[in-house]
Order: sequence, then structure tokens, then C-alpha cells
Amino acid sequence: MKYFPDFLRPERLTSLAQTALDNGGDYLVYVMDASLRSSWNHALEYAVFEANRLGRSLVVVYNLDEKQPFMNTRKLHFIQRALKNVGEQLRKRGILFLVRKTESLLKLVNEAVSVIVDAGYTRHQQTFRKTLAKHCHSVTMVEGDVIVPVKTASNRAEPYARTIRPKLLNRLTDFLETVPAIPVKQASADLDIEGLRYETFYDLSKDFGSIEFVEPVKHVVGGEDEAQKRLETFVKERLDRYAAERSDPGSDSCSELSPYLRYGMISPVQVLKHVFEYRRRGDVNVESLINELVVWRELARNAEVYNPFFERYEGLPEWARETLGIHARDHRDYVYSLGELERAETHDVYWNAAQRELLMTGKIHNYMRMYWCKKLLEWTDSPETAYRYAVYLNNKYGLDAEDPNSYLGIGWCFGAFDRPFTESSIYGKVRRMTAESLKRKKLIKTYLQRWSAPAGI
Ligand SMILES: Cc1cc2nc3c(=O)[nH]c(=O)nc-3n(C[C@H](O)[C@H](O)[C@H](O)COP(=O)(O)OP(=O)(O)OC[C@H]3O[C@@H](n4cnc5c(N)ncnc54)[C@H](O)[C@@H]3O)c2cc1C
Repeated sequence: MKYFPDFLRPERLTSLAQTALDNGGDYLVYVMDASLRSSWNHALEYAVFEANRLGRSLVVVYNLDEKQPFMNTRKLHFIQRALKNVGEQLRKRGILFLVRKTESLLKLVNEAVSVIVDAGYTRHQQTFRKTLAKHCHSVTMVEGDVIVPVKTASNRAEPYARTIRPKLLNRLTDFLETVPAIPVKQASADLDIEGLRYETFYDLSKDFGSIEFVEPVKHVVGGEDEAQKRLETFVKERLDRYAAERSDPGSDSCSELSPYLRYGMISPVQVLKHVFEYRRRGDVNVESLINELVVWRELARNAEVYNPFFERYEGLPEWARETLGIHARDHRDYVYSLGELERAETHDVYWNAAQRELLMTGKIHNYMRMYWCKKLLEWTDSPETAYRYAVYLNNKYGLDAEDPNSYLGIGWCFGAFDRPFTESSIYGKVRRMTAESLKRKKLIKTYLQRWSAPAGI
């Protein structure tokens, strides 16, 4: 028999391992991996519910994953404050919060009565969940970082946004549940479990001797409180301009939530519910946001689950690889090295501005990101190299990166989820983008001025 708290739809739960009912252990573990937050966290509340039901206490362990691709000091800096935040909030609820590297985490969870983990969709995150399932006798995965659980939305790899859109929109209201904080019956905060508690874990980078140094983005502060502030400002001050201005790189009409969504410092369910407190469905700005936050974002998760090659060049549609292959030897006016690109040293002021934005803020405006990525096709010796450089630069510097959206965005620039266009040099049938389209943007000069200063890496 299955038990669910009232707020939680069973479609959000997947059993990854179930070999014994109860091993007699003292506590349950929620492995916090993709949802670094203490509120609006489906997995956390399900874990509290289960601990109460089984008369055990709950321990939350954050998976500090040093083997995560592109982990570096920039990302550590961003998550460090968020960890402290979560630790403090959980302590108030009587829940012990530990931060563990993956290897020692796996030893700890072995002794738990049962393990709950949030859902993560990148290849690396999927592998971690498989490993967890091998180590524990009972593992339940809870999908709380999407509106509609991936396999509920669709049972196949969706080729286009237009094919997944009706499937997601039809189920949207079913999955906009409020996630309450369930009172904890048996506290664990004082349990004596050896490990790194958040209070003693102030400088994460010290613990990562060999981690790559990438300059942290000091003004982008991690944490769920910061994410809430951003959401509030966006909804109150910018949402009414979102549809009209979101594709103008000089405008500040976007939410700037992507780094927070990337690490699960905010729940997309809460974002949407909050938006609905101010504006209704049908409002042009709300529909435009739903198109990005739900349709495109969840299309990326669909691709991760159903396309095993999604994160690789081989995962692009066949027509795109074929046409790019035919044009691989076309003449290029400029070929830049990775270092020149990294330092924003091209002849193109727009591209350099976008690269500087990435270096200085950890993200690029969506419209510029498309231009930035497509130009790599023109300035590298092959489409495969262009793809590799795009992944490297995006994921090394992006605070929102190494996310399914990273591979969706890059893939789109190489023809994925798009249709063939009239054939042209280098791009073949893949859609081109030129600086002419940028010059037509009302606020492009503002964008250039903002990012014209040397990046200084
Ligand atoms: C080459 C390329 C690389 C990209 N790499 C990333 C990445 O590493 N991480 C990342 O989160 N997004 C990436 N995107 C998608 C998009 O550029 C960012 O999500 C968006 O710019 C984030 O800004 P925002 O939070 O202000 O977005 P908003 O416009 O406010 O949108 C709200 C949220 O919706 C989601 N979203 C918005 N646009 C898209 C989109 N086109 N596809 C999927 N989800 C979207 C994001 O989670 C975003 O935070 C990439 C796009 C391209 C073309």
C-alpha cells in the first residue's frame, strides 16, 4: 500500500529501489541534490511525511558533488550561501542538515530506513540516482522541479516545442499544488551523526584542493531568500513588459531566475503560482512566461529522459548533422582559438559583449545567447568543434549551466527542435542569425554599452 500526503500527486513519485520494507534503522534520509531549498520542496515534505508515518526522524544530506561536470569555484561560491540558508531553516524545523561529498554520502545512506531523492535530469544527475538505487534498499524519487512530471507529460522524445506544448498545457492546473511545510514529529537536529554540518562548512573551496578556479560572480548572491526577492521584483516591476521586451537584449524585462532554478533554489511551481496571484491565464505576459518556464524548460527535461545522446553532438537530429557535415569545409572568414573566444577577442562587438556578459554575470541574455552560439559555427573549423566550444564556454562560466536547458539551447542553435531553412554557406539548412537582426533591436545600444568594458579574466 502507498501513502501520500494530501498535497502531493502520486505522479510525482517514482520508486527507484524497493528490496526490503524496513531495515530497522533510526532515520530516513532525504538526499538533497537538485532542489537546494527548504520551502516549496516536494521531496523534502514527502520525506517529512514518510518519517512521521514511520515514527523515525529525518536527516537531510546535501550531495556536494565534486565530480559534477564543470564544477568550479564560481559555482561553489554561488551555492555556499544557499547551503547555509537551507541549514538554518531546517534546524528551525528540528531537522539535521549535513553536507557530504558523494562518496561519503553513499556510505551514510546505506543505514537509512529509506531514502528520498529529488529528481535531476542531466546525464550526470541520472547516473547519480542509479548509483543511489544500487546502494540503498529503498529509494523514492520525487519530481518537484518541473510543473508536469516528465513521464506524465509525454511517453516519447518530443521533437518540437509545438508537440509538447498542448500536452503540458492540458495538465498545467493539475500540478500547481501548494507545498505546505509539514510539522516534524521526531526531531533529528541533535542526532549525533558524524559529518560536515552546515555551521562548520564555511569555505567549501578549501575542501576542494583540485577544483578549477573560475572567478566567482560576487554580485549574484545564491540562496532561496535571494531567489524570492528576484521573483517578487520581476512580478511587480517587469512582468508587464515581459512579452514585448523579452527578446530585446538591452531590456531588463526577464526574471533573471535561471541560476536559482538551475540549483533548485526556487520551485517553478511556486514561481507560476506567484505569477497567478497577480495576473491570470490568458494575459499575454503570463502566456509568454509559461512558454519559456514550462514549455521550453520542460522540453529540455523530456529530451534528457528520452534521448540518450541529448548532451552530445550525436544527439542532434539527423538532417541537421547531415547538412552541417556537407558544409563543414565551407570557407570561414575568421577562425578563432578557444582562448580568443574565452577572452572575448573577436572582431564582432556584439559577440564580445555577450561573452563579457557571460564572464561577468554567469549568464547571457537569451536573444544574445542564440547569436553567441550560432556564430561559433562560423568561426571554428567544424560544427563538432563549435558544439564543443559552446558547451565548454556556456557550462564553465554559466551559473545557470550544466542544466538540461544548456543542451537544449545549444542544440537549438545547431538545428534541434527547429525546422530546416533555406540552404546557406556553413549553416546549410540550419537557421542563420546575423548582426542585422540585432541592429533592429530598440535597446541594442544599451546592451553594447553595458558590456563594452574589458572582462578582465
Ligand atoms: C546557446 C544557449 C545556451 C543556453 N544555456 C542555458 C543554460 O545554461 N541554462 C539555462 O537555464 N538556460 C539556458 N538557455 C536558455 C535561456 O537563454 C535562459 O534560460 C534564459 O536566458 C534565462 O534568463 P531568465 O531567467 O531571465 O529567463 P526568463 O525569460 O525570465 O525565463 C524564466 C525561466 O524559464 C526558463 N527558460 C527561459 N528561456 C528558456 C529557453 N529558451 N529554453 C529553456 N528554458 C528557458 C529558464 O529556466 C528561465 O529562468 C540557453 C539558451 C541558448 C540559446
